[in-house]
Amino acid sequence: KKQNLNKIKHLSPITLDNHKIEISANIGNINDLNYAQKYGAQSIGLYRTEFLFMERTKLPSEDEQFVSYKTIAQKMKNQSVTIRTLDIGGDKKIPYMHFKKEENPFLGWRAIRISLDKKEILYTQLRAILRASQFGRLRILFPMIISIEEIQTLKEEIKQIKQDLNKKRILFDSNIPIGIMIETPSSAIIAEHLIKEVDFFSIGTNDLTQYTLAVDRGNQLVSKLYNPFHPSVLSLIHKVIQISHKNGKWTGMCGELASNELATILLLGMGLDEFSTNPSSILKIKNIIRKVTLYDAKRITQQVLKQKNIYNIMKLIQQFMMLLK
Ligand code: PEP
Ligand code: MG
Repeated sequence: KKQNLNKIKHLSPITLDNHKIEISANIGNINDLNYAQKYGAQSIGLYRTEFLFMERTKLPSEDEQFVSYKTIAQKMKNQSVTIRTLDIGGDKKIPYMHFKKEENPFLGWRAIRISLDKKEILYTQLRAILRASQFGRLRILFPMIISIEEIQTLKEEIKQIKQDLNKKRILFDSNIPIGIMIETPSSAIIAEHLIKEVDFFSIGTNDLTQYTLAVDRGNQLVSKLYNPFHPSVLSLIHKVIQISHKNGKWTGMCGELASNELATILLLGMGLDEFSTNPSSILKIKNIIRKVTLYDAKRITQQVLKQKNIYNIMKLIQQFMMLLK
């Protein structure tokens, strides 16, 4: 059934029983940002900074990064922008960084592991983000976290940069929120400890699915096994959201599942606070949110979470979706 979603562009993502949900966008550059604004994104839930580092011949300097982050902060005015630190490795390689060949790149030198090993990359990026934070509402997001030590080291780094900026009388947002991606089973399993260290979680279902099911997200041979509706993945997502709420914090989702219409009711029912979608998916997700009550979403989610297999899970979701007008 094709419908014109443009008419809900200026309406809020609010359920029939008046619960307001945040819909934000995933972007990789300014072009994406323009799209996100065109489709009425309320905020940026994921800015993938790796694109700033690709298709070049050397690392971007602190000032170059500062200008990019400042531009995005200013364009979004007082709407928040979540900047994810460099997430390369895996399938994203940067020629000038001379990566060594790895047997299992997705289990190897990737994302935060690179930033923690190459402190000058981390320092430069965090300093640029902090300097830009005085021009808007920025948040910092760290990818591929597996342990409490990582986040403690990262926070210590931020603390030192803040001290240095203070000394030099450079302005920044001293309360800039710090969050981590939940995209490894480890981080979901120890979410209870991690949440004490951060302001928010953002669930990365693309990697969380890959690592939980041990299914390479890009391998055609096993693509039929790659499914974020697997009860193991759903159970981790549910647990993580609950833990964040118990600790007075919030959880967003920036993985593809947040852009999937079949998951919207379920994620609502689990209490997800922020859906960060591809710019082109904003309206279809908003449309579903506006057609259900949180009450019904919770009811159906309780049933879904009892199911033992993907087939029954999908059947329940589809039955419920048929009833939506
Ligand atoms: C994810 O893993 O779900 C995610 C949002 O990060 P990326 O797709 O950039 O790995
Ligand atoms: Mg990821």
